[in-house]
Amino acid sequence: MRSAWIGGQIAGAGRMATRRFARRRCRPTSIIVRSTAGTQGFRMTQLDTAVSLEDLIRATVPRYTSYPTAPHFSAEIGADAYAGFLDATAAGDGPISLYVHIPFCHSICHYRGCTTKASRRYAPIEAYVDVLRSEIAMVAARIGRRGVSHIHWGGGTPNLLSATAFEAIVGDFHRFFNISPDTEHAIELDPRHLGGGRARFLASIGVNRASLGVQDFDPAVQAAIGRIQPEETVTAAVEQLREAGISSLSFDLIYGLPEQNVSSIRRTVDTAVALSPDRISLFGYAHVPWFRANQKLIDASRLPGSEQRLELERTAHNSIETAGYVPIGIDHFAKPSDDMSAALSKRTLRRNFQGYTTDRAETLIGFGASSIGRTPSGYAQNVTDTGNWRERIAGGQLATERGRKLTAEDRLRADVIEQILCFFDVDLAATATRHGADHAIFMAGLDKLKPLVSAGWVILDDGKVSIVQHGAELARLVASAFDAYLGTGGRHSVAV
Ligand code: SF4
Repeated sequence: MRSAWIGGQIAGAGRMATRRFARRRCRPTSIIVRSTAGTQGFRMTQLDTAVSLEDLIRATVPRYTSYPTAPHFSAEIGADAYAGFLDATAAGDGPISLYVHIPFCHSICHYRGCTTKASRRYAPIEAYVDVLRSEIAMVAARIGRRGVSHIHWGGGTPNLLSATAFEAIVGDFHRFFNISPDTEHAIELDPRHLGGGRARFLASIGVNRASLGVQDFDPAVQAAIGRIQPEETVTAAVEQLREAGISSLSFDLIYGLPEQNVSSIRRTVDTAVALSPDRISLFGYAHVPWFRANQKLIDASRLPGSEQRLELERTAHNSIETAGYVPIGIDHFAKPSDDMSAALSKRTLRRNFQGYTTDRAETLIGFGASSIGRTPSGYAQNVTDTGNWRERIAGGQLATERGRKLTAEDRLRADVIEQILCFFDVDLAATATRHGADHAIFMAGLDKLKPLVSAGWVILDDGKVSIVQHGAELARLVASAFDAYLGTGGRHSVAV
């Protein structure tokens, strides 16, 4: 028996998988049909398929931090096309966001999935900063003096930059753009490199939000992933940041790591919530050693299997929620008092390359090697290799290597997918109307959802799709039903 799920992308969802989960398979006894053809034209018919949640979460689907997703970017978008995107942006007057990529770390963690390189010497970082400043000046000359709603330093380990480098780049931002006291200024920090008054310095240049890479507090897990970071290190970082006035803190945790078990991840969550971060991200480790050679250092035999992985995710998820955090989308949590919880309830939450955000800017400018930017015209990604990026910028050219010009249909589908990822529901008819499109474009996508409707996990009601059970686990799958490019490029991670 073949699995009922959409797109034929379930990993291992053949006869073996069917037998293995036979007892758990959800066999719907009734079909939820809240809509008839009526005005919206959506009709569900009798289904003869059954699905198991376990099969579905093995599906390999994109994380949808963009749509179209990065594997669908093409080399057709180079420096000239990006210059056109920026020129079109210059005509707008809304605020923009700035992203600065610092692709250097002291050492490389075994589980790393990011684009970064180890550097024990500061000279390469210093040289990188010089080029970065040239790139900032080049882009600013095209788009003019714009207001900035959000600055984000990511990497890599941005806190490896010297005070001089930070001051120079932030000085450039003030020189070329309008940075106000309301500008959210966030940075990703490695807690192992935050001594020497660094927190106070970051506050002095305007940083007001910090995201700490915690991952897991268990020493056995830390040893298995090549990142030794005692609990005291994280506690000290939190204290320093709060004393400095950077009180908006976020922790990144990861499940699915080697040596993790239900008790250890519960202890990790307990330790994390005791430090009271405002937000928590809970990501699944994606083991892709064919793509990230450093992951070959991880003993694959010590990784949790798919059932255990699901158990770990549920344990962590429930523990965080029990501690009083509001679940946000597929992998974030926020205190009820945090802006992100308010954005969820007001439906102003957005999703971008950094995950969930309260930032509403339509234009995100990426600086640095491999950084990705988004303008209303399309996406643009810089060359990944720092040497090539340096040569391009030094030659007076934008360093765009690939990207994607958005069509009207791309924008419509991106809107639908973003709503599903943020709110677990979408009004297809209203969204289509907002984009001046015909909602009939979604009929094929709705057809793919039949097994989930049959299982009672998704409801269709007057053109509205709502995930009513297992939202965090199913949102990517439901979104993928509306992805016109699904299955035409790239390998993705499993849904949980
Ligand atoms: S996980 Fe963080 S510290 Fe480790 S290699 Fe990646 S960016 Fe560097």
